[in-house]
This record gives sequence, structure tokens and C-alpha cells, in this order.
Amino acid sequence: MPELPEVETVRRGLLDAFVGRRIERVEVGRERTVRRTSPEELIARLTNRRATDARRRGKYLLFDLDSGDELMIHLRMSGQVLIASPEDERPAHCHVVLTLEETNLPRAELRFVDPRTFGEVIAYDPRRMPPVLPELDRLGIDPITDELTKQDVFEIMARTSRSMKAVLLDQHVIAGIGNIYADEILHAVRIHPARPASSIDRRKVAALCEAITSVLTRAVELGGSTLRDARYVDITGSGGSYQHQHRVYGRAGEPCLTCGRGRLKSARIAGRTTTWCPNCQRA
Ligand SMILES: [Zn+2]
Repeated sequence: MPELPEVETVRRGLLDAFVGRRIERVEVGRERTVRRTSPEELIARLTNRRATDARRRGKYLLFDLDSGDELMIHLRMSGQVLIASPEDERPAHCHVVLTLEETNLPRAELRFVDPRTFGEVIAYDPRRMPPVLPELDRLGIDPITDELTKQDVFEIMARTSRSMKAVLLDQHVIAGIGNIYADEILHAVRIHPARPASSIDRRKVAALCEAITSVLTRAVELGGSTLRDARYVDITGSGGSYQHQHRVYGRAGEPCLTCGRGRLKSARIAGRTTTWCPNCQRA
């Protein structure tokens, strides 16, 4: 599932390829992708509009439109946003297509491809009450666009006896971290994933905040992680390369790259397969 670095890579690609270009035509092939509104609403709100900016909060891609509306794209499990020539054959599972005007760039299609159909493409009026996307207001700190303040994180963690893994995965605390980066961050800061969040002292919380920022920033620089399933690709269809930097994720049973002594262990923690080094990350 794409996490913050993958979604950020898509956002950066769309700043050049999508923002500022008039949307000439909107096609919706599968209603599930627009389930919170309707195909008619997506078509009406996007046709002849252009995005004026591309933002991201956690794993949500948000585009301001020149009408005052917003467009939200969420990749969920397997969504991809591809920019392609209209002459190129459309891939399978291509559920939404936006035809973009010719500018200094040739006419193109923004294609939302999603085999598992958990992803969403929604256009809405952000001033509407009740909001179409109520969860946006409940999203936690974005560690790249907001300032990740040690004091805030310490106070949140001090109040919960949940495991560190559960806290990092909770989008209401810090937005954008999923299973891959939670494991990599906890390894980088040498915290056992099952440790209660309230047991982490102030000094360690400061180190955790630094690890969150440095792991995610480096992953963005490398275009995110593309696993063997090749579900995540950027807007040109290319994979990222941060998977070559993974120290624990997907490496259970292998020797630890950090200490060279422990063998990486794996167990279900916070409902997710979790990998850590029992030597570097003591309980
Ligand atoms: Zn180790």
C-alpha cells in the first residue's frame, strides 16, 4: 500500500503534468471509485476545470480547482495515477480517465488504475457541510508538510498504552506512515515495535521524531518503495528505489544489516506483520 513517500512522489509528478492544464473530458468506468459521490458529480465538477495546486495530507492527494472545488485522490491498496498519451492503449482496471488539454506538453490522459478498487477519486465543494471527507479533519500531523514537534508527539504518546507500532500506524496521530515505514523508523531509532508508547522517554521521543523525518525524507528522495508486486509506480509507470534501503521490512529471518549479530524476527503486532531486530530493538 502506498504510504507518504509514494504519494508525495505522485504529487510532485502531477505538479508539472496535471496542475494548470484544462481537463477537457472526464470518463468514469467504475462507480466504486467515485462511491462517495457519483460519476455525474465527478464529470460536472471536473470538466473544463483546471487544478491550481497539488497538495498532500498524509496519504491523501488534494488538488485545488479553479472553481473553488477540490479533487481528492486516494490510492489505498493498489491505486496508480498514470499520465499517458491518448494513443497508448489503456491498461486493465483503468477506472477514471481525465483528458488534459495540449499545452507546451502534448494532450495527455490522467488515468486512475486500481485493480483492487479500494482507491477513490472524488470532486467536492470543501465548504459543504457536512463535509464529503470528514476524516480529513481528524488526520494527525503530516511529518513532511507540518512541523513534527517533539513536545506534541511526546504528549500524545504519554497518554496511550498502545504499542509503538500501533501509534505510528494511527493516521490520527501522525498521517502518512504505513507498515513499511513504521518498521523502518522503529528500527532506525532502536525501539521494539511492541513497546508501550507511554514507556518512551523524552530523549527517545526526540530521536524518534528525527528518525521519522529522515526515513521519510530519504524515501521521497528515492521515489518511494516499489515491492515485488510492482503495485506502486510513479506517474510515468516507473518504480521507486527505496526498497533497496529497507533494513527490516520484508527481511524476516535474515541477518540484521545494522548490528550483523541478530536475526530479524517477525510477528503480528497491531494487526500487521511486523519485522524487527531482537538485538537492536530490545523489548
Ligand atoms: Zn540488529
